[in-house]
Amino acid sequence: MLSVSDTQAVIFDLVQALDHQGETEVVDLLTATGRILACPVTSNLDFPHWDNSAMDGYAVRYSDVQNCSAEQPAILAIVESIPAGYQPKLTISQGQAARIFTGAVMPKGADTVVMQERTSQKENFVHILAAPQPQEFVRRKAAFYQAGTQLLPAGIKLNAAEIAVLAAAQCSQVSVYRRPIVAIFSTGDELVTLDQPLAPGQIVDSNGYALAALVRQSGAEPLMLGIVKDEPAALEKTIAEAIANADIVISSGGVSVGDYDYVEQILATLQAQIHIRAVAMRPGKPLTVATFPPKVPRGDNHQRVPVYFGLPGNPAAVLVTFLRFVQPAIKKLAGLAQGWEIEFVKVRSHKELRSDGKRETYVWGKLQVVNGVYEFSPAGGSHSSGNLINLAQTNALAVIPVGNTLISPGEEVEVSFNRG
Ligand code: AMP
Ligand code: MG
Repeated sequence: MLSVSDTQAVIFDLVQALDHQGETEVVDLLTATGRILACPVTSNLDFPHWDNSAMDGYAVRYSDVQNCSAEQPAILAIVESIPAGYQPKLTISQGQAARIFTGAVMPKGADTVVMQERTSQKENFVHILAAPQPQEFVRRKAAFYQAGTQLLPAGIKLNAAEIAVLAAAQCSQVSVYRRPIVAIFSTGDELVTLDQPLAPGQIVDSNGYALAALVRQSGAEPLMLGIVKDEPAALEKTIAEAIANADIVISSGGVSVGDYDYVEQILATLQAQIHIRAVAMRPGKPLTVATFPPKVPRGDNHQRVPVYFGLPGNPAAVLVTFLRFVQPAIKKLAGLAQGWEIEFVKVRSHKELRSDGKRETYVWGKLQVVNGVYEFSPAGGSHSSGNLINLAQTNALAVIPVGNTLISPGEEVEVSFNRG
C-alpha cells in the first residue's frame, strides 16, 4: 500500500502534458475563458501606446509650476483642449498649458499633469494652485509593457484578466491546448440509469454524473461510456473502447477485493502496467492506476500513454480520490505549466475531527469565513464513504495525517479548497 504522497509522485510521473504543437486548437477570444494558452504571446504594441494623462486636468511644463502655491499661483495660457482619442496639434511652450482629459495623449513640450481639483480656470487661463511632482499623472509610453517582449507565457489559464490583455493586444483568436478527453464508466450489476425503475438491491449510477461534472470543472471533456456489468467480457470491451478514444480513463467500482471486482484482471488481459493497487488513505484505499502501451504519436517523438484511474465505487471515495489525484493529473495533462498540484492551507477547525491514525484521512466539509477568519466545519451527518447526500454543499477536504487521531475544535487543520 503506497502513501498518498508517493501515489501522487507516481501519477505525476505517468502523466505527460499535451504537445504544444500537435495538440492545440485556435479559438475565438470570447470562447477562450478557462482554456490553457498553448504559445507565448508577444505584441508589437507598447502599453501605454503613447504618453498620456492619468487625470482630468492640465498638461503643463514642470518648470513653469514647480514653485507655485495657492497664494502665488502659476498662471498659464490654455492653448488647446485634448479629449481622449485625439492627437494634440500644438507644442506647449513656456507659460502655456493644455486642457487634458484622462487617457488623452500628452502634447509635445508638456511633461506633467496637474489634476483639475488643484486649479481654477479663468477664461483662457488656468491658475495652478499647488506645485505638482515632476511628471506627475503622466502614464509613460511602454511603462507597463514594451513592444516585442513576452506579453503572456504559454501554459497559463485564461481568465478575465488574461482575456483583457489579449483583447488589448488585438488577439481575436488564440492558440490553446485542446481539452483532454476523459472516458468515464461505472461498473456494477446493481447500477441503473436515472430513468429506470429501482428493483430491490439496485441503486442509481450517481458516480458517472459526479465524475462528468468533476471532469468538466477540471477543464476536460467527458466521454460517457455508461454502466458496465460486472462481467469480464463487457468490462474488457468498454476499457478497450475507452483507451482507444481518451487521454485518461476513469472507472468507478470493481477495484476492491470482492468476487465481482474484475477491473484488475481485465487490465492485465489488456497488457496494462499496473502502478498502484492501494493507497493508505480513507476513503479511497482501493485505488488502481495503470497505463497502456502507447497510442497516439505526438509531434515531438513522444507517444501518448493513456492513464487509467480505477476509482473505488463508494461515492465519497470517488469525490476524494478524484480531487486528490485525478484533477491534478488532468490539469498537468491539459498543458498548465504550473499550479496543477492540489494545495492545502492551514485553517482553524470549528469542530473535532477524528481518524484512526493509520491512514491519511480526508473529511469533507465547508471552508467559510467566520468573523473574518477562514474556518473548516465538517459536513453534518454520517462520514461513511457510502454517503453521498452530505457531500452536497461542501467545498473543501480537510486532511488528518497518519499518526494523528484527533484535531480538537480551534486547532489548525490543513484544508484543500475545491473551487471547481
Ligand atoms: P465497489 O467498489 O464496486 O465494491 O462498490 C462499492 C460501493 O459503491 C457499493 O455499495 C456500490 O453499490 C457503490 N457504487 C458503486 N458504483 C456506484 C455508482 N456508479 N454510483 C453510486 N454508487 C456506486
Ligand atoms: Mg461493484
